Amino acid sequence: MATLTETQPTPLTLNNDEILRYSRHLIMPEVGMAGQLKLKAAKVLCIGAGGLGSPLALYLGAAGIGTLGIVDFDVVDYTNLQRQIIHSTPDVGRPKLDSAADKLKAMNPFINIRKFNTRLSSDNAIELFKQFDVIADGTDNFPTRYLVNDACVLTGKPNVYGSIFRFEGQASIFATKEGPCYRCLYPEPPPPGLVPSCAEGGVLGILPGLVGVIQATEAIKLILGAGDPLIGRLLLIDALAMKFRELKLRKNPDCPACGKNPTITKLIDYEEFCGIRGEEVPAEVTTDEIEVEELKKRLDRGDDIYVLDVREPHEYDICNIGGHLIPLGELPNRVNELDTSKEIIAHCRSGVRSAKAVNFLRQAGFKKVHNLAGGILAWADRVDPSMPKY
Ligand code: ZN
Repeated sequence: MATLTETQPTPLTLNNDEILRYSRHLIMPEVGMAGQLKLKAAKVLCIGAGGLGSPLALYLGAAGIGTLGIVDFDVVDYTNLQRQIIHSTPDVGRPKLDSAADKLKAMNPFINIRKFNTRLSSDNAIELFKQFDVIADGTDNFPTRYLVNDACVLTGKPNVYGSIFRFEGQASIFATKEGPCYRCLYPEPPPPGLVPSCAEGGVLGILPGLVGVIQATEAIKLILGAGDPLIGRLLLIDALAMKFRELKLRKNPDCPACGKNPTITKLIDYEEFCGIRGEEVPAEVTTDEIEVEELKKRLDRGDDIYVLDVREPHEYDICNIGGHLIPLGELPNRVNELDTSKEIIAHCRSGVRSAKAVNFLRQAGFKKVHNLAGGILAWADRVDPSMPKY
């Protein structure tokens, strides 16, 4: 296949320090001096400096990608450290961009790091992508994934894709001229709330490492023009079974983004497309919320309340405020266990699942049902600081 950098002017040379640094590349016939100079001339944009972005940026930086762009607007959170290995404990609270850039600069002073402290959006994606050769998608949500795909199709940049959940991962290269795009595979997003995020469902800390390294490998192969890239192939990774499978993907001639008669000719509103807006906590439920201080006061004075915990048993083991444990997924079959004479206050970790439980119970005819705003996290913040948060 065509190399990505062959239309660019032959750049630069390597100085003696760079030659020594990249010596294990330079002695490989597949890389050599010509390949290392292609890497130096290349510009790769990492979307996100999180779980996938960490190994992506670290390995691309170490390999000598000349210009490494990173888009991120978030700060390092304590719960990130289990998998986002570019950040360290003292970085908690710092912008991820600054933390990542410091690590990369310390590791390889010969690369140019471009920081984009912004949320990738329909307003900025095209301009941003035009400045790079390869886009590496490290996002963790559907609106951004469709946005990255469409912007890659519109700008003609390859989308090195990865996604992760619990023990499973996927990787591919989308939006090349010859291959399919993400929409060829998934024309429509899943219904909102159906596919849990890593924040809701968890992820094995190693998994983004595994998938991010595959993405970094594919990005480097694209730049070198070496080997057989993951174009038209979806790699499925099952870490629990430790099996790698592969699905053949075809370009869909009717694809709205990359088909023969595309209907997506500019970027759209991706939150709306994915049905996200207003879905997280339905409006009719928010009026039925009670605050953690109020629940504490009422429990202390002995009000007869049925406290319903809709989390999973392994979450209950981490921390709980007592009450009855019925996981959200089991609620429809266990409604008869609820005490209909009592007021029910449902809670979960952050208040999203319990809002769904409240909605369900109201539709099932329960009148006195409330959602604990902010869930057990708010309880730990404002009622019982000794309670662990997760
Ligand atoms: Zn397509």
